[in-house]
Amino acid sequence: MALGPHTVGRKLLWSIALPGLIVALIGGGYFWREMRRAVQDAAHREALALAEFIASTFTLPQADRAHPHSAVAEVIASDTRLLRSVAELRVLTPDGRIRWSRQRGEEGTLHPERERLTAPTPETARSAREGTEVVRPLGGAECADCHTGDNAQHLGVLQVRLSEPLLSRQLGSVFHLAMVSTLVFGLMLTLATALSLHFFLTRPLRRLTGNMRRAEEGDVLVRAETRGTDEISRLGAAFNQMLARITSMKVEEIDTHRDLAVTKEKLALKEKLEERITELSLLFDVAHSLNSTLDLQEMFERITRLVVERLKIPNFSIMLRNADGNLEIRTAWPHHRGSVGLTFAFGEGACGRAAETLRAVYLPDVSDRSSIFAKRNLVGGTDHGSLLAVPMVHMEAVLGVMNFQRPEVAGFSPEELELLTAVADQAATAVKNARLHSETVLLTQTDPLTGVPNRRHLFNRMEAELARAERYSTPLSMLMIDVDHFKRLNDAAGHRAGDEVLRKVCDVLRTRVRKVDTLARYGGEEFMVLLPQTAKEGALEVGEKLRRAVLETAALAAPTQPTGHITISIGVASFPLDATEQETLVDCVDAALYASKRGGRNKVSAYEPGMEIHPGRERGPHSSTRPAAEGTFPLPPPGVAKA
Ligand code: GH3
Ligand code: MG
Ligand code: MG
Repeated sequence: MALGPHTVGRKLLWSIALPGLIVALIGGGYFWREMRRAVQDAAHREALALAEFIASTFTLPQADRAHPHSAVAEVIASDTRLLRSVAELRVLTPDGRIRWSRQRGEEGTLHPERERLTAPTPETARSAREGTEVVRPLGGAECADCHTGDNAQHLGVLQVRLSEPLLSRQLGSVFHLAMVSTLVFGLMLTLATALSLHFFLTRPLRRLTGNMRRAEEGDVLVRAETRGTDEISRLGAAFNQMLARITSMKVEEIDTHRDLAVTKEKLALKEKLEERITELSLLFDVAHSLNSTLDLQEMFERITRLVVERLKIPNFSIMLRNADGNLEIRTAWPHHRGSVGLTFAFGEGACGRAAETLRAVYLPDVSDRSSIFAKRNLVGGTDHGSLLAVPMVHMEAVLGVMNFQRPEVAGFSPEELELLTAVADQAATAVKNARLHSETVLLTQTDPLTGVPNRRHLFNRMEAELARAERYSTPLSMLMIDVDHFKRLNDAAGHRAGDEVLRKVCDVLRTRVRKVDTLARYGGEEFMVLLPQTAKEGALEVGEKLRRAVLETAALAAPTQPTGHITISIGVASFPLDATEQETLVDCVDAALYASKRGGRNKVSAYEPGMEIHPGRERGPHSSTRPAAEGTFPLPPPGVAKA
């Protein structure tokens, strides 16, 4: 039987066996002592009785006077059952000589202990290891009939020594048997108890605790044995019930955890989706804002608003490459920092590096890395926090850089880097589109030969200037200029030379008018100048100045012409003096030009009423029936010039 340490069985066994052993030992000892005492008492009594019996034979009548007390000798020598336990039986004379003895050959000899035995003492009985000894004095009154005199008082002693009585031996063996039986019984009891404890307590308990340990380690599917109706079985059943409950709780917990995980996943997904939606909506809004205008400055303001308000980026700037190829801040938030106009070379600071490498440069901690990116890192920002410089790249070309800054260290997430890169890409495309648009607009409004505004632009301007003049009640004058005998020049020198002359005339005119004036090629070899806030007299002066300038330009000497020089004729008309309608005003200035032609050319004429109905001229020189100059558009009907 394996009883491990600290088992209940072992403890119970000890608690039963130890007291049993102690009780058995104490009981055995007590029993042994009492038995010894009883045996001793019995031996004493037997020895005394025997001594008394032997002594009584001395008083028997004497049959033979020659042999007194012959009966004593016979009794002593006899082998009766009475004397079977007698080890020694002697009669000693008062001087210690052995008179009779059961030991042969002793008679007549002196007893070795004669002094002790013959000392005058009353009858004594004592027990020793070798047996129980009784010494009985002989003599006295019972012997006085035959023995007279003083010596009748002390006639000798009777010494009887009994060996261990039979009863004692029997009791001893019984005692030993009892002890052995008790021991065997005790052992058997211990064994039986131990086995019972093992099978009914220790083993079931060990199984139960084993199951409990397994359950403790997480195996909730383990179950205890529940055969029987004893307490351990009931404990096992209770344990099983508890486990079943724990199992169902565990299942619920697992379900809850799974649900929780699914919910968390969904939440994370939702958050991600929301983030994506926010990003996409921002991108959409950026794209929408960018596409809804072709004006760069307006575009920048819209992006700034979106970045600052939607992305909560407090410091922001947009840089574009200027004519020198450097990066120039075109817009910045907050406005009050005054960083607009600052320039950065390629490679200078984070923005310069972004432009140089065509990759976004992210400084999670500006104060940490400032030394790496030269002195000027902060574009409208502060000297702490995080900075992100994203290049605006279109078709591998850098158009500019967008700088985002937050006051927190590591303030931009990887997703934001992606988003802002996408914003910068969009912005780059928009900037490119805006530039293309303005170039196209410029092309559609510019005369390719001379580089001045064409007729379309002229009529747009004319309409705007007229509206302004009307609104502010200011005069507006216009000059119509025509090169004299240009056909001749063309015919004689060729079309290419004619073109060159046209360019030169245009240059002369352009350098002589104010910035606020509009010089445009009206068609063929005709030009028109709009002079805002200029009355007729002033316009005549300007016309005269221009006419003279052409005449005085040495490069415009032309032998093909009648005067040997290129000359121009000019007509002048003014709003509101001559007309208030655009169409009428053009007719007026045309009529005035015609008047200069009629007047001999190389002249400046102001419009006067009646000029336009001169005989032989049905339509003015600007008439669309005349061949239009190369690269120009047909004259739109006045009033719809904007189309
Ligand atoms: P005037 O105005 O003095 O009455 O005589 P003109 O010879 O200048 O008159 P006209 O209007 O008959 O001729 C204008 C000529 O200008 C006709 C045309 O061949 C020429 N012309 C018009 N546009 C261009 C141009 O773009 N380049 C060149 N080389 N010639 C042009
Ligand atoms: Mg002409
Ligand atoms: Mg002409």
